[in-house]
Amino acid sequence: MNANLFDILESGIADPEATAIETAAGERISYGDLAGRTGRMANALVSLGVRPGDRVAAQVEKSVEAIILYLATVRAGAVFLPLNTGYTPAEIDYFIGDATPAVFVCDPAKADALKDAANQAGAQVVTLDAGGQGSLTDAAADAPADFATVPRDKDDLAALLYTSGTTGRSKGAMLTHGNLVSNTTALREAWHYTPDDVLIHALPIFHTHGLFVATNVTLFSGASMIFLPKFDPERIIGLMDRATVLMGVPTFYVRLLGDDRLNRDTTAHMRLFISGSAPLLAETHREWQARTGHAILERYGMTETNMNASNPYEGDRIAGTVGMPLPGTEIVVTDPETGAELPRGEIGMIEVRGPNVFKGYWQMPEKTAAELRENGFFITGDLGKFDERGYLHIVGRGKDLIITGGYNVYPKEIESEIDALPGVVESAVIGLPHRDFGEGVTAVIVPAGAHAISETDVLAALEGRLAKFKQPKRVLFVDELPRNTMGKVQKNLLRDQFGDLYR
Ligand code: AMP
Repeated sequence: MNANLFDILESGIADPEATAIETAAGERISYGDLAGRTGRMANALVSLGVRPGDRVAAQVEKSVEAIILYLATVRAGAVFLPLNTGYTPAEIDYFIGDATPAVFVCDPAKADALKDAANQAGAQVVTLDAGGQGSLTDAAADAPADFATVPRDKDDLAALLYTSGTTGRSKGAMLTHGNLVSNTTALREAWHYTPDDVLIHALPIFHTHGLFVATNVTLFSGASMIFLPKFDPERIIGLMDRATVLMGVPTFYVRLLGDDRLNRDTTAHMRLFISGSAPLLAETHREWQARTGHAILERYGMTETNMNASNPYEGDRIAGTVGMPLPGTEIVVTDPETGAELPRGEIGMIEVRGPNVFKGYWQMPEKTAAELRENGFFITGDLGKFDERGYLHIVGRGKDLIITGGYNVYPKEIESEIDALPGVVESAVIGLPHRDFGEGVTAVIVPAGAHAISETDVLAALEGRLAKFKQPKRVLFVDELPRNTMGKVQKNLLRDQFGDLYR
């Protein structure tokens, strides 16, 4: 059977008149329109020389045309490579040189700066702006709507997504048609998605969350999504009376809670609030439930594995956990030294296996071999444990683990204690180079208002609650924690900023 994800998507659509995407301006694109417009775009790509297996790289703002470009690339049997809109020309140089795409799509304003690098890598440059206009759209407008979707095997590549990689070179995760389709199928079932669902889509589409989780799950369900160019709390609350699902990063929920209009009435039509990509504070989960009556459903995934665990749709959605493995996905917690599976309750390395797990890193066989075991388990780099009810808890990235005086300290444990103190908005606990201890446990805190809490207060509160070696040596205060576009706290930036503290 043809495993091309577009064919599978299309064959599941019962009503071609149904709305697939509604733009912020109110334009409605039906599933029938989507077939025609992806057909035109696929023909345009083929005219530009794109062949099956070629990469099509895109650094473009969020627009319906950008989603059409993704689907058209996949229809043409090529490999979609979305790039963060925040990347600088120097960073783009690296990605283009590494992935050698046949076509590079960018904003017209950036085309001049990027043309040479693209041409050097053998890529043709075409343009697409935030309004969906550009030389690519022009080429598609002139092309026929009929396009025979290129048959693909489930192991053929559909997308190449570079990891955000805070250390070393960013790696291209190779995702197959089979990876994306199997994950979408598992999520649709897990979250009880139906054609009646209306998603508020406010995520960027250069990342697995907005591109695959949000878009694929919606389109494979024959449901519809309201496409917002960016996160806008007012707009989102205004749409809740006719939407059913919101997918967000934790910062969305924190910011929505800051709006007085968020309450049981404004969220009464909504069916499901989903959070992922970074840890949702248990406090945010509780506040949300108290204000709206909805328990946020937290899930866990990453570029390389797609989604792999989710809190249950029916059953307890437990704050501070990411739920159980999705059907078809195996998750084990192992000893980081030996790789041996650990008993339930013990903290170790989270490893994932299943049809959702990527094929490897693009042209990096050593990195692939180091992180993807021969038996199929991917070593995620996240540390966690299963509790007695089988819910997975993430305690942080392995590289954020602090080793102080020979003891392992998991930042999450200390952050949870600090976050519960009055006068604290949130915290990040990091290890900084220390002459005596190797690393010194250091708390970086965002206070609730200036001088709401002092270093002495924090240290006094933790005394007796945490073993001595876990207690911070110093407590620092900042106005806000550095975060990337997906809401992840960038501890590496904090480590750089305060690196000399104990030296
Ligand atoms: P990315 O590849 O950019 O999606 O980043 C994946 C990483 O985000 C994971 O390896 C985790 O460290 C983190 N992550 C994703 N979802 C969650 C979650 N629900 N709770 C905690 N960390 C998460």
